[in-house]
Amino acid sequence: MPETVSSSLRAVERDIADACRQCGRDPASVKLVAVTKTAPDTAIEEAIGLGQRRFGENRVQEAKGKYPALKVRDPDLELHLIGPLQTNKVRDAVALFDVIETLDRPKLAAALAEEIARSGRRPRLLVQVNTGEEPQKAGLLPLETEAFVAQCRDRHGLAIEGLMCIPPLEEEPSLHFALLAKLAARLGLKQLSMGMSGDFDQAIAFGATYVRIGTAIFGARSTATDQD
Ligand SMILES: *Cc1c(COP(=O)(O)O)cnc(C)c1O
Repeated sequence: MPETVSSSLRAVERDIADACRQCGRDPASVKLVAVTKTAPDTAIEEAIGLGQRRFGENRVQEAKGKYPALKVRDPDLELHLIGPLQTNKVRDAVALFDVIETLDRPKLAAALAEEIARSGRRPRLLVQVNTGEEPQKAGLLPLETEAFVAQCRDRHGLAIEGLMCIPPLEEEPSLHFALLAKLAARLGLKQLSMGMSGDFDQAIAFGATYVRIGTAIFGARSTATDQD
């Protein structure tokens, strides 16, 4: 890694502020989720030392190995789950995460509602939308999203704060950001989690409130851990 976490984190913060200025948004309206999957603990601690408080992990198990100790030291850390959640990991996920961005099916909504009632812990929830309608990708189809959000609220008592998407690798991401923003506006949802290292400036132009950025802060990962 040629750059330090310090210089790359500051550069990303600057780029976010620039992107906001270019589309007339308040930089405070865009929150950086620093994605730490595969990042070494030393890099995470460096980011915490620089004032970063919001982090994202895509695997419950990996997060469970790193974050409980960090949260004891810094109780104001806000941890986001950004990868798929199996129902048998719901108990761990509700205990550890402050925001679960990947609610994507009725069975998971039921399991989350049950665990929230049992534990009294209430992570904030985003619904993942498969904007590219890719068969291998998690998330609600755009046309199913409205009914699912209503079902979460009415049947399970789950308040949904917003929507999240991961655009298809080979497509122009802004079409997907525009679609997600339109859906969220129609459903009256405030949070939009979209934009990663390569496209967060476009996501901000389309209204992202959370950008999830890993590589641009912590350097490249080995690709094997990325997509599963
Ligand atoms: C890994 C990951 C990111 C971060 O991607 P970068 O390209 O490294 O910024 C964002 N969102 C999700 C869902 C991820 O799995």
